[in-house]
Amino acid sequence: MDHIPFFRARLLQWAAEHPRPMPWKGERDPYKIWLSEIILQQTRVEQGLPYYEKFVAAYPTVTDLALAPEDELFKLWEGLGYYSRARNLHFTAKYIATALDGRFPDTYDTIRALKGVGDYTAAAIASFAYDLPHAVLDGNVYRILARFFGIDMPTDTPAAKKEFTRLAQQVLDAERPAAFNQAIMDFGATHCTPQQPRCATCPMQPHCVAFQSGRVQELPIKSKKLIKKERYFCYFIFHYKGDTWVRKRTGKDIWHGLFDFPAMESSERPNWPESRTDMEQWVRTHLFQETTLDFQVTQVSKPYRQTLTHRQVAAIFVELDLQKELPVHLPAFSEVQRVSWADLKKNIAVPRLIDWYLQDKAGTLSLF
Ligand code: SF4
Repeated sequence: MDHIPFFRARLLQWAAEHPRPMPWKGERDPYKIWLSEIILQQTRVEQGLPYYEKFVAAYPTVTDLALAPEDELFKLWEGLGYYSRARNLHFTAKYIATALDGRFPDTYDTIRALKGVGDYTAAAIASFAYDLPHAVLDGNVYRILARFFGIDMPTDTPAAKKEFTRLAQQVLDAERPAAFNQAIMDFGATHCTPQQPRCATCPMQPHCVAFQSGRVQELPIKSKKLIKKERYFCYFIFHYKGDTWVRKRTGKDIWHGLFDFPAMESSERPNWPESRTDMEQWVRTHLFQETTLDFQVTQVSKPYRQTLTHRQVAAIFVELDLQKELPVHLPAFSEVQRVSWADLKKNIAVPRLIDWYLQDKAGTLSLF
């Protein structure tokens, strides 16, 4: 590791020459830094930026966030996905507002103990808000260190985590932790990127092991691939006098706390009916249990897909016009509630997959 001083100096020089302004940069308020870090987990900066601005405007302090009704907060979060982040944000804001009298924790360990805060986020808050010497370690940092120092350990193992944490801490400029952490994150996001890193113009080139040995595309190495379980939903969107029916998702399942439409679900690739008439018959048998309810299937969407951390979700949406109220006493409709379309649009948070469909609804939908 002879080239640590070189790496550190070149990185800080690169950052000085490539400023990347963001609304949270230079921010010292730990609440706003925390907010930006939680929003940016699993989210691209361009996508997260307007959310950060909306949240800071709606909830300028941690106490304001703590007092927000959950449904309002979820609505503001809509489109960002991974709603467990929004839930943890709310839980933690309430904890800070009540148990800590609104004072944000100010040591690495107390920040790390907050719900929804991992090693990376704790290091980011500790360094940006309090200038504490804790190195951030995320995918960007793994990649840069693996390439520059030529480390060919698979990065997704506990041993690698230990080794990279040690190295990141060793490389950190303890005198300027905030500037260094920001620099390495920016360098990974814009210069030493996963695909097509800018090696030709890179100030690290003379001592970058991956570049010098022609292994840039090879590093970092991953050993395991996550096997994602599949889930299939057939959603039923009922129309009756300008209203529809939704249900709030509860329990420990995905999308907990959000609303979706009544649905049939399967973990195997289902054979949904392939024509509107067949779908009508299928709905009459399976949902309406042969009741004489008068309805019409008006359209069936193409499949929509979303990849979550541990799940692959696919859904189709069936639109139905009803001549009468939905028979909510039937088992398929337990816990549904009737809402107006205007209310759904303005006040009810739905999973991203459903939001995509609703946004497409005005456009062209592929029908069977
Ligand atoms: S030379 Fe290429 S691989 Fe090495 S640090 Fe620079 S951009 Fe990354």
